[in-house]
Amino acid sequence: MALPKYKTSRANTHSRRANWKTQAAATVTCPNCGAPALPHMACPSCGMYRGRVYRDAIRSQFSK
Ligand SMILES: [Zn+2]
Repeated sequence: MALPKYKTSRANTHSRRANWKTQAAATVTCPNCGAPALPHMACPSCGMYRGRVYRDAIRSQFSK
């Protein structure tokens, strides 16, 4: 295993971490209600995914 010879300077650490940025989540438009939804997920507005309603399954999952 190679070992670093020198400690990484604070400036190097900070300049590297300065490039960490957040990105907006990619969304698709729900074909049922037109609301933005995450791809490959049931629509948060109407609960539809690939022609089936998954809202009851989602509710029971989060109402424990
Ligand atoms: Zn929808």
